[in-house]
Amino acid sequence: MRRALSACLALCLVLGSCAAQKREGTFFAMDTVMDLTVYGDEDILTDTEALIRDLEQRLSVTRPDSEIYALNETGKAALSEDTEALLRRALEICALTDGALDITVYPVVRAWGFTTGAYRVPGAEELAALLEKVDYTKISGLTLPEGVLVDLGAVAKGYAADRAAALWRERGVESGLMNLGGNVYALGTKPGGDPWRVGLRDPFSDATLAALEVTDSAVVTSGGYERYFEEDGVRWHHIIDPAAGTPARSGLASVTVVGAEGTLCDGLSTAFFVMGLDRASALWRTLEGVEAVFVTEEREIFITEGLEGHFQPMNDYKNAEIKVIRRG
Ligand code: AMP
Ligand code: MG
Repeated sequence: MRRALSACLALCLVLGSCAAQKREGTFFAMDTVMDLTVYGDEDILTDTEALIRDLEQRLSVTRPDSEIYALNETGKAALSEDTEALLRRALEICALTDGALDITVYPVVRAWGFTTGAYRVPGAEELAALLEKVDYTKISGLTLPEGVLVDLGAVAKGYAADRAAALWRERGVESGLMNLGGNVYALGTKPGGDPWRVGLRDPFSDATLAALEVTDSAVVTSGGYERYFEEDGVRWHHIIDPAAGTPARSGLASVTVVGAEGTLCDGLSTAFFVMGLDRASALWRTLEGVEAVFVTEEREIFITEGLEGHFQPMNDYKNAEIKVIRRG
């Protein structure tokens, strides 16, 4: 037995394929740059990229060959396991956030040009007409009523991170970090056993606002700076308040959500941004296993209590006062 084991080990060393070597890759998918650092087998990068591209192909709202596109065209479509699972989970998060996340806001997002690049400020009447079709509670049994369209863009990258992390675990990875365009997932620890340090971006510059120490966690940021256009001196960003049909102006510049499930963190980061600090904190107090960082337009920083001791402000924020949001 021992001889067989050592023979196997020797073979692994010769082939180099079982060894958990450091592997790094960058590619463009889901409209964003994705960075992977993973200690795993030699196929792990290509397999992870293939997994994410396959998800994109099924979940994209703009690709005419996607399942979501077919669903929006016909109101009912055959969905693969992933698409159905994400649609169901997204609807739960819509309910949890009382519609601050609303996957049916797509007609409004499209009218602003955020999915096409043809940016414009829609008129009040146009928005009022579009908002009549915005209501996730009208979806029953994964069938869309006439005129209702869905977009999983606010949760798809988080879901991709969950699926990629699951693939890494299946393949025995104990250490890896992925950044799927603001959707980070840190698997395990750094190779030496220290927690991963994830940089949070300053929403007012390209610099790093803080480092967050995490293990086995998703770290997902939503911010107005990620995608926007300017017209008449106003900055219009891509996170829409479904109640108003306009870019959310809740006093927040960015929200980061930390937790075990990327999909939930992604949905919550978008929803918290819409809700603003007070409503988001109230919802956070009802949740378990989730933490958050809020940066306000006034450049104030709030962290929830579970992040105390794991959040290190940097650069312009080194001496900033960090306010802690507590449960009780
Ligand atoms: P995220 O980058 O995860 O915050 O998601 C923002 C993207 O989701 C936008 O680019 C839109 O495509 C879509 N979106 C914007 N506002 C909402 C909303 N309130 N609920 C659901 N999806 C939204
Ligand atoms: Mg999101």
